[in-house]
Amino acid sequence: MDTLIKNGTIVTEGKEFLGDIYIRDGIIVEIGENIDKTADEIIDARGKFVLPGGVDAHTHLNIHMGDIVAKDDFYTGTVAAACGGTTSIIDHMGFGPKGCNLHHQLKVYHKYAAGNAVIDYGFHGVIQQVDDSIINEIESMVRDEGISSFKIYLTYDNKVSDEEALKVLIKLKELGAVTTVHCENDGVINYFRNLFVREGKTDPIYHALSRPEESESEAVNRMISLADVAGDAPLYIVHVSCEKSMEHIVKAQRQDKNVMAETCPQYLFLDETMYREKNLQGLKYIMSPPLRKKENQDLLWKDISNNNIQVVATDHCPFDFKGDKQRGKDDFTKCPNGGPGIETRIPLLFSEGVMKGRIDIKKFVTIVSTNPAKIFGLYPKKGTIGVGSDADIIIIDPEKEVTLSKAMLHENVDYTPYEGIKLKGYPVLTMVRGKVVARDNVFVGEKGYGEYLSRKSNIL
Ligand SMILES: [Zn+2]
Repeated sequence: MDTLIKNGTIVTEGKEFLGDIYIRDGIIVEIGENIDKTADEIIDARGKFVLPGGVDAHTHLNIHMGDIVAKDDFYTGTVAAACGGTTSIIDHMGFGPKGCNLHHQLKVYHKYAAGNAVIDYGFHGVIQQVDDSIINEIESMVRDEGISSFKIYLTYDNKVSDEEALKVLIKLKELGAVTTVHCENDGVINYFRNLFVREGKTDPIYHALSRPEESESEAVNRMISLADVAGDAPLYIVHVSCEKSMEHIVKAQRQDKNVMAETCPQYLFLDETMYREKNLQGLKYIMSPPLRKKENQDLLWKDISNNNIQVVATDHCPFDFKGDKQRGKDDFTKCPNGGPGIETRIPLLFSEGVMKGRIDIKKFVTIVSTNPAKIFGLYPKKGTIGVGSDADIIIIDPEKEVTLSKAMLHENVDYTPYEGIKLKGYPVLTMVRGKVVARDNVFVGEKGYGEYLSRKSNIL
């Protein structure tokens, strides 16, 4: 099977040029001007952008949280991803039973994904307790299982202590792997949650007020210090929501520390006032960290422009508004945390970022595809358009106008937080390893086509 994509504006992290791409057996074989070959399929991309497929480094498909399960599994979630221009995901595994080892959750997640995912997928390991056997087990996860990054949490039931975080940072650095962290100060959050519930302050807005910016920025600063103590261990802060956190990150980066930051579309497009929407609509936005004050948005865009934020991922973790989210109607602390976004990331960032001139198209490619592929050990197989790379390609029509709505999306959830936003530019074709999986917002791929991505660490 071979394919020729002709006359498109091809963009990579470093280049933008008019050209053709010739693909054979899922791999990019030739890139050039006027490639004169026959092919099984010829795609005319005139007037359109031809870009590396999106890499979403932060999803939670099929995650079990207590007695509730996120609405998208590895089939529905990756169908939505494909229609929105994402060709690979790295899913954050959820917590397993108390005391389980690292391979336990890996087995569970392989089972969730195999035969279901329609695009390629990897997993971040999750460390929910730290003892000698877990620390010893990390090496085989990195070396034999292709898990070159792990996540720790500084809040929630399976949070790690500073000492435990330090042990993880030291071990992962030794293996050339990345520590990713959910940074929030557990004590601050518990104090306010208990106080607000006692005082009967249980509306959705109190979710945000119980998790002030300082509860995030303190934890970010602490992790930066611990990574420093660990000998400049690679540190990746997930879902940075506010400038107070970025101040610490920017300072560390100026000192050449190995600190990387991820933000998500919800922190660029939504804000804290939404928790006050009538009829408890605010429950839709209960996620952690919470939405912040609007003034953060321009500052986060600036941090993207200045290379201080390396990645925009989604933290996709959807729950229905009718049903799941209603658990929080009388008490925000009972509401499942998370929201959808796997399908809208690329369209939102293209339209509101590139088309509105906030970032240029090379920067767009860098933050949605190239950087996550590089940081998490998938590059150059993923994250670029180059000879020898997988033919994971999206075509975006910059003239296509779309109004985002629940009805036009494929996410398996009953709302989108981006309802009614008018976009200019939308993905019209998504290809994974040479196979077209979505065309004009219709999924045309195949259940189970996705392959597991065994990821490289920087040493092994
Ligand atoms: Zn998450």
